[in-house]
Amino acid sequence: MSANTFEEARAILDKLIAFPTISSDSNVALVDYVVDYLEQIGARVFLQPSECGEKANLFATIGPEGDGGIVLSGHTDVVPVEGQDWVSDPFKMFEKDGRLYGRGTCDMKGFLACSMAMAREVSTQSLVRPLHLAFTYDEEVGCFGAKALMEELARRNIKPSVAIIGEPTQMRVIEGHKGCYEYTTNFIGLEGHGSQPDLGVNAIQYASKFINHLVELGEKLKARAPQDGRFDPPWSTIQVGKISGGAGRNIIAGTCSVEWEMRPVQPSDATLVKKSLDAFFDRELLPQMKAVSAFASAETVVVGEIEGLQVVAQSEAREIVYKVTGANGADVVAFGTEAGLFQEAGMSAVICGPGSIEQAHKPNEFIEIDQLRNCVEMLSQLRARLI
Ligand SMILES: [Zn+2]
Repeated sequence: MSANTFEEARAILDKLIAFPTISSDSNVALVDYVVDYLEQIGARVFLQPSECGEKANLFATIGPEGDGGIVLSGHTDVVPVEGQDWVSDPFKMFEKDGRLYGRGTCDMKGFLACSMAMAREVSTQSLVRPLHLAFTYDEEVGCFGAKALMEELARRNIKPSVAIIGEPTQMRVIEGHKGCYEYTTNFIGLEGHGSQPDLGVNAIQYASKFINHLVELGEKLKARAPQDGRFDPPWSTIQVGKISGGAGRNIIAGTCSVEWEMRPVQPSDATLVKKSLDAFFDRELLPQMKAVSAFASAETVVVGEIEGLQVVAQSEAREIVYKVTGANGADVVAFGTEAGLFQEAGMSAVICGPGSIEQAHKPNEFIEIDQLRNCVEMLSQLRARLI
């Protein structure tokens, strides 16, 4: 590894941290800086603006055109700092005791900075395999940027074969995580006096039938746990996190909403749940509700559906990252990332990045300087696979 590349990564990180790219805000200023940087070193860059126009994905290529490239990917957005007890300005990076502090240092601008420094290092060489950088928006609120980017890559017929997603894993190789699907199901009933329940449609009572059905499905999923499952727990889970509805004890509840999530270990479990719910609504709940009021309804809103990363027997991404990190085993983790989307788009995907998820989303977020160094080292090793 060249010491210069590490110093370069650190200097870039300092700049990236200074852009307060909280998911609710624009990331355009950061993206403009990255475009400038990458174009100066000869990368071919395109931006994909979000629908609102205030955010953008960035995709860059160095080396030959064509399929089979290696993608280094990360998200540009960070979680909010409001209400957190920061000892310093979260958007001004500073060093103390071998750590670099600032919002996004570990989740995950550290990896972005290392990728950019590595891109500079390889830009003067003649590559036989394309290197791509994919920087996305809105990961923290549902991976919306990465979803759009996968569609754009398909439209442009760009087919990389390997994706390394640099979420903080302390440079461990992560080959799988569960999906994370989040929903709100809204029930609209018919209000009425509490003494005449049959004349109204009680949204809370229908919501509770729905919740019972979810609980039953949760039990079914346990029995479907894959034999060699390594997740904890090894089955797909369903969980209701919040319900709200009704106006008072003696009024038939006119509305109720149920916020729930499902974490599938395999796509077929999610399909099973969706089919079962559709049938339950169509055959039982809705006919019962509408028999009293044609205006009664029950509808599920998708908050976000983050695909799981499936563990696969043959994985080029895993093999490459084993070689460049010296690792000889891979783990699975409980948190969701964009990696499942890259896999779904046809790439071999693995997660490996600097810093610890322990520090992510917390006040006084930091990354160990050694972690940054290890990441630069890994990417320098990766260079040998491109030339
Ligand atoms: Zn992250």
